[in-house]
Amino acid sequence: MTLHEKTIVEAGRSLRSGEVTSEDLLDAVLLRASQTEAQLHAYLTLDKEGAREAAGQADADLADGIDRGPLHGIPIALKDNMCTRGVETTAASQILAGYVPPYDATVVTRLRDAGAVIVGKTNLDEFAMGSSTENSAYGPSFNPWDIGRIPGGSSGGSAAAVAAGSAFGALGSDTGGSIRQPASLTGIVGLKPTYGTVSRYGLIAFASSLDQIGPLSKSVEDAALTLEAIWGHDPLDATSYSAEYPDVPADLDTGVDGLKIGVIKELAGEGYEPAVESSVADMVQSLSEAGAEIVEVSLPTVDIALSAYYLVAPAEASANLARFDGIRYGLRVEGETTEELMARTRAEGFGPEVTRRILLGTYALSAGYYDAFYGQAQRVRVALRDDFARAYETVDALVSPTSPTVAFPAGEKIDDPLSMYLTDICTNPANLVGHPGISVPIGLDEQGLPIGFQVMAPALGERVLFRVAAEVERLAGFGARPVIEELAS
Ligand code: GLN
Repeated sequence: MTLHEKTIVEAGRSLRSGEVTSEDLLDAVLLRASQTEAQLHAYLTLDKEGAREAAGQADADLADGIDRGPLHGIPIALKDNMCTRGVETTAASQILAGYVPPYDATVVTRLRDAGAVIVGKTNLDEFAMGSSTENSAYGPSFNPWDIGRIPGGSSGGSAAAVAAGSAFGALGSDTGGSIRQPASLTGIVGLKPTYGTVSRYGLIAFASSLDQIGPLSKSVEDAALTLEAIWGHDPLDATSYSAEYPDVPADLDTGVDGLKIGVIKELAGEGYEPAVESSVADMVQSLSEAGAEIVEVSLPTVDIALSAYYLVAPAEASANLARFDGIRYGLRVEGETTEELMARTRAEGFGPEVTRRILLGTYALSAGYYDAFYGQAQRVRVALRDDFARAYETVDALVSPTSPTVAFPAGEKIDDPLSMYLTDICTNPANLVGHPGISVPIGLDEQGLPIGFQVMAPALGERVLFRVAAEVERLAGFGARPVIEELAS
């Protein structure tokens, strides 16, 4: 196995046995980036200098007997909507071109404290609005399994980097599926933790009641140990919980014997690719053979969750994005008056999807429409929460496909916002209710494209979530890695 193919756990083992240094790990991912970036465009910024310094420090610390834990010396990538002190942070928008934050997001501080080496900032849909990474103002990312296809989104750059081996792991953000869906489409693991367990301080806000940071990784265990590093209360985030990290590792090998697992009835049928449906059904069968009791569960509100999501998310976005006024950060297009300056900056700085969301959200919040749109969407959210609560009275975890389709060709949905929005159908319910969800790769379709399996659990149910996810990973035995043709230079 080449170095860049190792999981975080394997790389950490090699590091501690003295077989490799953190600098070697960094060289391996940077070499991989140099071989794949022309095809994938996973990164917006590679911070080679900062990473080199951090790797040198990690090696020096280890030599001095200072071991900061599982992420010590491991090269990790960050979605470019997390603020990094001294390193440009754009959220893939023109409006933030050249913005260099004076502070680190709390997750970045936590990663640094855990000894991780930050390799760079990955591509995303502008302000994390999208499902394909094609809405980036800096050009799309592509899927390592087929460079004619998208890697999913909005954390598509993070997913492509981890799948290709130009990072050992990455952080993404998930507002309606943006960690889980790209993980599914690139054959890796992606976790959206319980809302409030990972600080949002320094995450460029999209929809604050839905946004959640989490890991993308090559294995379930890597996701668990990355979560442990970033988990925990933060006084700088008013919606942060003070829950202890649940003892996830204790149950990674426990298996599913005795668990009751619900298959969500509404997340199947029309619009789902047959290969996705049959792989998911096979995995459900395997879980049953492994000792889980399987029941079909109906969550009727799931059918209208997507419509509610596409009111709540743009409404919150329209408020959050008001701060980009051409005065405080990033782009400024001069005008005769302050108002003209703001209008010009925003017209030039925001791309078409972001503009669409601001218009939709502003409309949904406007006087006379507020209750009919935003109010109604919030009522759907309550009904959905009740559906989930009812389901969890009888089951321990819920499962579904992560995405109704495998990775689609670049350009296929970019002019059809509705079909792009539909790709979140399986993932956005967990955001609306704040519950954790994880995508685990379970196989390839006949074209060789990855299929992901979603596991969900109640709020703060990470322990059972990981217990099921680890069993899914074992049963699937998914070891395939993408082969990326190097472009002749
Ligand atoms: N695709 C969804 C959207 O466009 C979700 C994005 C996300 O989770 N950040 O809003």
